[in-house]
Amino acid sequence: MACADGEWLLTPGPVTVHPEALKAMARQVVSHRSQEFRELLASVREKLARVYGGGEVLVLTGSGTLAVDSMAWSLVEPGERVLVVSHGEFGGRLAESLRRRGAAVETLEPPEPGVAVDAGEVAARLERGGYAAVALVYTETSLGLSYRDAEAVAKAAREAGALVLVDAVSALAGERVPPPPLVDAVASASQKALAAPPGLGFVAVSEAALERMARLRSPPPPYLDLAKVARFHRERVETPFTPAVNLLYALDKALDLILDVGVDAWVERHERRARLLYERLPRLGLEPVVAEPRYRANTVAAFYTPVPSSRLAEALARRCIRVARGMGELRERVVRISTMGWLGDEVYEQLPAVIGEALRGV
Ligand SMILES: *Cc1c(COP(=O)(O)O)cnc(C)c1O
Repeated sequence: MACADGEWLLTPGPVTVHPEALKAMARQVVSHRSQEFRELLASVREKLARVYGGGEVLVLTGSGTLAVDSMAWSLVEPGERVLVVSHGEFGGRLAESLRRRGAAVETLEPPEPGVAVDAGEVAARLERGGYAAVALVYTETSLGLSYRDAEAVAKAAREAGALVLVDAVSALAGERVPPPPLVDAVASASQKALAAPPGLGFVAVSEAALERMARLRSPPPPYLDLAKVARFHRERVETPFTPAVNLLYALDKALDLILDVGVDAWVERHERRARLLYERLPRLGLEPVVAEPRYRANTVAAFYTPVPSSRLAEALARRCIRVARGMGELRERVVRISTMGWLGDEVYEQLPAVIGEALRGV
């Protein structure tokens, strides 16, 4: 069924893009070896650095998974011990990427989904030593959990001499993610809280990370090689391979729009929307997956549903509202609602009533 006025896209990526950012990409392609391209790349990198708040930003063509994989494969070598703090699906994928790299991966998981891993426990594990890196997901999108102890974990890692790798794909610009040099690498992507079209990934890295990736004994495949990207960025203000030039135009504009609002105000906008959902939806029988408010994400709110999530999602789709269901074993029990993208406040104000109506109909 067609939704004449479009739908409310409330999935945790991709999200609604501002019309100005869409317009920015409708222009002629330029060579990625031209001065015009170099200016575009420099502009995007400078704006991304302001959103990150630190580190050297490396720009990739590919989705968030590429950013996470290249971070993992460029900073960890076969045989190295890595501790992965894993809260759910995306923590599992991060561990899997490192395992495929040949790392000796150990995972720390919470006793049940929606609970945060105790930072003291992570520190105690790190103190025993021997870890080359700690890897974690800042916002575990599958459960709406933000690991707000990441900075404390990073401090413990630093003392233990381990690098800190962060998947912040659904966190950057929606959460206060510790930037390099507090951590060593922060991976993210265009289609989440930056509200740009999907297709670009980036990793902000510390000086320590740049040094580490420049002297790997066993470098990753060329497309995953962040040292190569860093070299091209630094020496030529270019990318090693053909980038998605037009997506960079859109991202440049999307970043302007966020910087106009202000990075702090943009984070707070997500925070405010998530708080509204966590306040109103429990009155309809939707139970937050993350019980402790400190760990509830700003960018995606997740709830156990009183009816199968497929039925609720279908009832909302008939009303031109697209939400996401749970992942893995929680698929039929959980609904996830994004606060990201250029939808107006009225969407979030009206949403609880529409969900109430949809629930009465199923
Ligand atoms: C969305 C997401 C990814 C993967 O992003 P893709 O762009 O779909 O490859 C990775 N990690 C987290 C935490 C995410 O939310």
